[in-house]
Amino acid sequence: MGQDIPPGKVTRAIYLHIPFCLSKCNYCSFFSVPYDRQQMRGYLAYLHKELELFAGSYPIQPASIYFGGGTPSLLTAVDIQSLIDKLLFGQDMGTVEITLEINPIQITKSFLDALATTGINRLSVGLQAMNDAQLAWLSRKHKVSQIPEKIRLLKEYGYRNISCDLIYGLPGSGLQDLKDNLQRFLELEPQHISTYLLCLEESPGMQDFIPLLPDDEMQALQYDTIRRTLDDNGFEQYEISNFALDGFESRHNLCYWNWENYLGLGASAAGWIEPFRYTNPASLEQYYSDLDKGITMTSCELCEEKQQKEDYLMMGLRKTRGIELAQYQARFGSDLLKDFESVVKLPLMDKVLNISGTHLALKPEFMFVSNQVIGKFLS
Ligand code: SF4
Repeated sequence: MGQDIPPGKVTRAIYLHIPFCLSKCNYCSFFSVPYDRQQMRGYLAYLHKELELFAGSYPIQPASIYFGGGTPSLLTAVDIQSLIDKLLFGQDMGTVEITLEINPIQITKSFLDALATTGINRLSVGLQAMNDAQLAWLSRKHKVSQIPEKIRLLKEYGYRNISCDLIYGLPGSGLQDLKDNLQRFLELEPQHISTYLLCLEESPGMQDFIPLLPDDEMQALQYDTIRRTLDDNGFEQYEISNFALDGFESRHNLCYWNWENYLGLGASAAGWIEPFRYTNPASLEQYYSDLDKGITMTSCELCEEKQQKEDYLMMGLRKTRGIELAQYQARFGSDLLKDFESVVKLPLMDKVLNISGTHLALKPEFMFVSNQVIGKFLS
């Protein structure tokens, strides 16, 4: 291990990155490599090794396990469960949120028969759009007509916590495209919807499309449409881009936004183990060679208290309910409003922030420009 890990702080959220994909989507900037069964086997052995290195020196008691990617639904049920078993150390699986990102084309009876033998109890479906032209542009392999049956199958197999991803802001897309998409998503009756504004800055080969993206005004209008439509249909916005029916907020992502310790395992995964923030190499070769030398947390930064306060604020303000002042006080032993007094008192900040006796939050109408507002708190 590159650093000594301080004792005492239990890790409650674990992210496992499975970087293999059947093909590369043109807009994707995540670390992914072509799927190969043999390579997947080798990768899993290293994932187990990485976990063993952590578990030997750090307390892990998961409230959430998240299989992300890449395409983690390329794992076999046996592989999924063997990772879950290792992560739980005998803990009761029923109390843990265990999410699998699933590619719609892999939702079949035979896959679900196998998946039913695992502890997966939440599915995040990479739907992205309910519009065939948009799906084709995104180089997704599924068709709109297949989706209602696939979601029905998930429900038939007992999945009651289903999240669907929606990408908006595609080149040339207007408000009506978005409204149609939202309507068709709602007809599927998921419990959770995660939205993503398409960003092509880091997608090589897609730069020519950047001028065709909706302008800032249209993006803001689209964001507002998402908020209003989902709110009208019983979804609470609990984070900048995430909406859930009552009781179905992602426990995993809330760990990030509450700035709780989380372990990221796998190539390119990131983690936060107070006071260390780290990122694993976005290269299989480097990831393997580090683990062969017993090195974890390769790219690791020790965060001083000032940095920790800024990170806590940056993540906490993503939540619509914002930051609980008493929790900040309990964590850092100081008053948030005093620590960031110079920013809170800036002209016009009273129009942007909600400061109640108990919380500091962004006003809903400023959620779309949250990055600019949060940036003011960071030195
Ligand atoms: S399936 Fe997901 S991770 Fe894989 S290339 Fe497509 S967008 Fe990227």
